[in-house]
Amino acid sequence: MAQYIEIKTANPGSLLFYRMGDFYELFFEDAELASRTLGIVLTKRGKHLGEDIPMCGVPVERAEEYLNRLIAAGHRVAVCEQVEDPAEAKRRGPKSVVKRDVIRLVTPGTLTEDALLDARRENVLASLARVKGGEGEDGYVYALAFADISTGSFRVAETEAGRLPADLARIEPAELLVADAIYDEPALRPLWRALPAVTPLPRESFDGAAAERRIAGFYGVATLDSFGSFSRAEITAAAAIVAYIERTQLGARPPLSRPQREASSEAMVIDPATRANLEILRTTTGERTGSLCAAVDRTVTSAGARLLARRLAEPLTDPARIARRLDAVEHLVDEAGLRAELRERLAGAPDLARALSRVALGRSGPRDLAAIGRGLAEGATIAGLIAASPAPEELTQAAGVLAGVDPELAAMLGAALADELPLNRRDGGFVRAGYSADLDATRALRDESRRVVANLERRYVEETGVRALKIRHNAVLGYYVEVSQQNADRLREPPFDVVFVHRQTMAGAMRFTSTELAELEAKIASAGERALGLEQRVFDELVATVMAHAEAIRACAEALAVIDVTAGLAKLAVDEMQVRPEVDGGLDFAIEAGRHPVVEQALRRDGGPFVANDCELSPPEKARSGRIWLVTGPNMAGKSTFLRQNALIAILAQAGAFVPARAARIGVVDRLFSRVGAADDLARGRSTFMVEMVETAAILNQATERSLVILDEIGRGTATFDGLSIAWASLEHLHEANRCRGLFATHFHELTALSQRLSRLVNATVKVKEWEGEVIFLHEVVPGAADRSYGIQVAKLAGLPPAVVERARAVLTELESADRAAPTQRILDDLPLFAALNRAPAPAAPAAKADPVAAAVKGALDSFHPDEMTPREALEALYKLKGMA
Ligand code: ADP
Repeated sequence: MAQYIEIKTANPGSLLFYRMGDFYELFFEDAELASRTLGIVLTKRGKHLGEDIPMCGVPVERAEEYLNRLIAAGHRVAVCEQVEDPAEAKRRGPKSVVKRDVIRLVTPGTLTEDALLDARRENVLASLARVKGGEGEDGYVYALAFADISTGSFRVAETEAGRLPADLARIEPAELLVADAIYDEPALRPLWRALPAVTPLPRESFDGAAAERRIAGFYGVATLDSFGSFSRAEITAAAAIVAYIERTQLGARPPLSRPQREASSEAMVIDPATRANLEILRTTTGERTGSLCAAVDRTVTSAGARLLARRLAEPLTDPARIARRLDAVEHLVDEAGLRAELRERLAGAPDLARALSRVALGRSGPRDLAAIGRGLAEGATIAGLIAASPAPEELTQAAGVLAGVDPELAAMLGAALADELPLNRRDGGFVRAGYSADLDATRALRDESRRVVANLERRYVEETGVRALKIRHNAVLGYYVEVSQQNADRLREPPFDVVFVHRQTMAGAMRFTSTELAELEAKIASAGERALGLEQRVFDELVATVMAHAEAIRACAEALAVIDVTAGLAKLAVDEMQVRPEVDGGLDFAIEAGRHPVVEQALRRDGGPFVANDCELSPPEKARSGRIWLVTGPNMAGKSTFLRQNALIAILAQAGAFVPARAARIGVVDRLFSRVGAADDLARGRSTFMVEMVETAAILNQATERSLVILDEIGRGTATFDGLSIAWASLEHLHEANRCRGLFATHFHELTALSQRLSRLVNATVKVKEWEGEVIFLHEVVPGAADRSYGIQVAKLAGLPPAVVERARAVLTELESADRAAPTQRILDDLPLFAALNRAPAPAAPAAKADPVAAAVKGALDSFHPDEMTPREALEALYKLKGMA
């Protein structure tokens, strides 16, 4: 217990998995918490200061599963192992405790085990640093560093307070490190709430002065001069990551690339609300299925899937870089044979990056090494396929990286490792016969000895005449001869040239040893042990060789992912009839026959065709800013779908993908905003109108001429005139001040009048047809304004009772009559719906005469003044009323 408490104190903030034989055990509060989270039994073990100690345990072989659940629930775990052989402790003295130490801290951002990771998602550890200075509103410069230690990517980017939400939403860290002081700042708190895990660290972790030294130390270089230039905030953030990795991995060094600097203007800015609304990586309910990413993912490797998600999360803004990606996709669209061959090869390639990371962290097994060997060999083949004919730069560069690894490495791994491999290096048997002469000889000896045991058994049976004689093995006696009680005397009888020494009497059996057996024992044990030892040496050599090539292997993994994403996008383009978009530095946004990639695929499954629509937001002649379309039309007509499809097309185009359209020309979008009116957001139970207004404010403050703004039913969260006025003013501001390109869907038909005054505002509507009193949705976006909203027809489609539909029609006719003030009274005076209901045999007949109970209730109600009542008085009043019934 003293040892436990010492280790526990040294690792505050983590659950301690304390190794006891075949279990990891947890004690005290840890046990209580873990038993609650994992649903495992809480028991007691021993006493501490006179009290029972709560305890629970998880079996070592199932530890990963439990770790996974604890990490997913936001906990951190310190894994404490026995670091010496228990025999060693025994030798020190009877009361000695086996030495234990924490060998690793498991936190959400530092996972490397396949079982704990989602293969198709990155697992990002990020850190946020802040230094005084800069032009930001709050007088600070911020920097984010983010790494995936399971793949080795490592990047840094400077940012400012206002952009943090968008940056964090883009990076999606599994864990964010921040300094205590920043963590406690009220203004930044809401940011933390949106993240799965935030780890506040003491100020030293973000010490700018020590930062450079720390990074240099990690990479084993004297200075960072060759790393490129970084700001102080960036260095500080990167150093915090490095320090945290060193702390949690306890000195093991994952193959992190050198930090890559990212300019803030490199990626399209997409804030969290827009990401959620457009369902880029995940739907609003959190699933991958139904997201843009799922709809366009045709990759065949996990690394490819991760890279595609990253590209969609951060579309580029540099037309040259976008064109480079598009060139590559186009090449593979044209070269169907090459595309198919690449995809087939890639499908068989293992996850190089994650295998390499485990090798580097000393957590690998023989299968990881084999995976690296196979991955490199596939890489070389793939490089050959690409190099066979001229290809665009993105592909030839990737092929160059793949071809650049020393071919000896893959050959060596292939030659060294057997075909069937154990999971664990300690199991042995993974080195291929023929790789090491020494090992082969030792194995032969070991196997030969086993045969000798079998022969010996046969001989003993013959010589003693005891047919049931067996040679067995256990840890205490080693090899021994076992016979039944009745036969035991036969072994003591001369004349044998063997002397059997009695060792043990069991119920019904006797055990003996012999000198011959003891000799064999020593020989076999040493051969087996030697073989295993030799295998471990081979393993260590292979690991060392792999690590010597770590940087090249990591680069290969990246190159394979690039090729997979490119081939996947080409396949998508072919299968989904997509077109190469033109992306340039202008302000155009011209989509011909665009489609919504997700809705289209969903409709295809349900059998319906998707109606393609144009969208033209390019600046009109002589104007220097783009247009805004004001889209009206009934509910269910397809307004939201149309709005979103154009935003998604912009994302796809700038991510370097083909787009679902007949043609598309897009002047690079710097920021993308998308908002839905509050009414769609009710399920979240927030003050929805407030949220909507805060978000609208952000757009009006931030959208530039290069931005694309999608507003869906803004202002419908409040009373009609308030909502209309807000929508009106927002639209004017977008047109006159922001001068952005935009799509604005509304049910306020009054807004269509604005197009007379705002020169770049275009009215558009989604066409419907009326047929025998029913509406038919054509999903076709055409110029003009909706004449009617068809709300009643839609309500009828939804199954509102016919009486209600009829009455609604009548009310509408009155409301639409010329005079707006009077009708309300007329409608009130005329209550046909109630009359109709009353005529029906209703269960509760209306009171015809004055009812004494009703009168008493009314009297009581009149005497109550809710605003002045205490809760107790209110309760009493309620009882009083109840008593009257
Ligand atoms: P609104 O925003 O006008 O209420 P939505 O965009 O939500 O309408 O569309 C309603 C439904 O109509 C969608 O779920 C989809 O099934 C269908 N739809 C929308 N646009 C199209 C289209 N262009 N082609 C075919 N079906 C469409």
